[in-house]
Amino acid sequence: MATWPRVDAFSQKTGQKTGNPMKKGDITCPACGAGFRRIELSFERGTNGEYRCLACGQLLEIFDGSKLIAYRLTVQPPVRSSPV
Ligand SMILES: [Zn+2]
Repeated sequence: MATWPRVDAFSQKTGQKTGNPMKKGDITCPACGAGFRRIELSFERGTNGEYRCLACGQLLEIFDGSKLIAYRLTVQPPVRSSPV
């Protein structure tokens, strides 16, 4: 009688990967309140430079180029009505 061999390929899906080189975080612009998703890939080379808030130009981070850092706007800044 043949029995089905256990297929372990599926169980590999649940295997824990240690040392995930991708870091994610959320940044909020201190000046205008816009929200950003920040993704850092430590295994990729980035470029020197800086990231400024898309909405107000506030400097959020300076890159040294040792890793790749990407920002994405996730929360539009609150609309400013005329100052009181
Ligand atoms: Zn801002």
